[in-house]
Amino acid sequence: MIIVPEKDVARFVGREDAFRAVEQVFASMAAREAGNFPVIREAIGHAEALYGFKSGFDKSSLALGLKSGGYWPGNEARGLTNHQSTVFLFDADTGRVKAVVGGNYLTAVRTAAASAVSIAHLAREDARVLGIVGAGHQSAFQLRAAAEQRPFEKVVGWNRSPERLVRLAEAAEEMGLPFEAVDLDALGAQSDVIITITSSYAPILSDAQVRPGTHVACMGTDTKGKQEVDAGLVAAARVFTDEHAQAVSIGECQHAIRDGLLQEMAITELGAVINGTAKGRQSAEEITLFDGTGVGLQDLAVANSVVLRASEAGSAIEVEF
Ligand code: NAD
Repeated sequence: MIIVPEKDVARFVGREDAFRAVEQVFASMAAREAGNFPVIREAIGHAEALYGFKSGFDKSSLALGLKSGGYWPGNEARGLTNHQSTVFLFDADTGRVKAVVGGNYLTAVRTAAASAVSIAHLAREDARVLGIVGAGHQSAFQLRAAAEQRPFEKVVGWNRSPERLVRLAEAAEEMGLPFEAVDLDALGAQSDVIITITSSYAPILSDAQVRPGTHVACMGTDTKGKQEVDAGLVAAARVFTDEHAQAVSIGECQHAIRDGLLQEMAITELGAVINGTAKGRQSAEEITLFDGTGVGLQDLAVANSVVLRASEAGSAIEVEF
């Protein structure tokens, strides 16, 4: 069995590797070569923690396994991140455990890769301004991965507590891009691509604030009840997702579906666009919206890539198990 501890994961997962792994697994999912198993997520009645599993199998890459972990709100006070996760990979031929990989950094990279894949396939080629709503832990990862998909010339950002925007300002500087803190009206008026990455339970951005032709990647809504954009914006957009079942139940689409503003059949899996079996953006004027709910197969795909890179580098820890 191979172990890649959390502290080593960043050395073995580049943005390019994560992008390719996520793009491939989205394509496998849409081709029904890969499937996610039902998600388990439970309040354990201790430390206010939410604990669960996300698992799946990809026949084309033979990635089989699970990500186990959840959310411990008291961790920050202990100097730990609130989200904690570990990925376990199994041999698809024998069921024997193959690898254990730290899942915290990996979660941020794979989530950023998902919105980056959506931008690569759905944003206008002439997109020049990137808008980010939210400045939490994930946001800088989102910015860096997105910035590589189009020749952006500027990043604008909004956060509920503006002082936190320094995180985005630093990430933009690292990518060689000017950054401006703006209000939501200005963000929508300037942006060609918008990523929302918050823990909001009420709409932040409305359809009136978003320009025709914008690509919106909604990445924060991964639970029943969460919401980042107005259901009217979802209804006005051509809608794509990582996984149909999750989009309608725990994703941004849940609200527009409930309100009768969006038909389930109108949601396209991004993998189908990657495979060429569905159309992506169809005009420069339409708004495209990616509902990135986060699937276990993304974690497995990127963890597989980490194990491969660590093994190639001769840095994998091997134990008899
Ligand atoms: P974080 O706790 O570090 O940051 C939370 C962010 O949400 C902050 O910017 C905060 O200001 C903002 N926020 C919270 N409540 C808000 C409200 N009511 N209105 C406006 N802004 C609000 O969290 P993070 O690690 O950056 O993750 C952000 C979100 O992304 C979380 O909800 C997390 O569950 C989700 N997430 C989704 C995926 C996926 O695959 N889709 C993966 C990882 C995380």
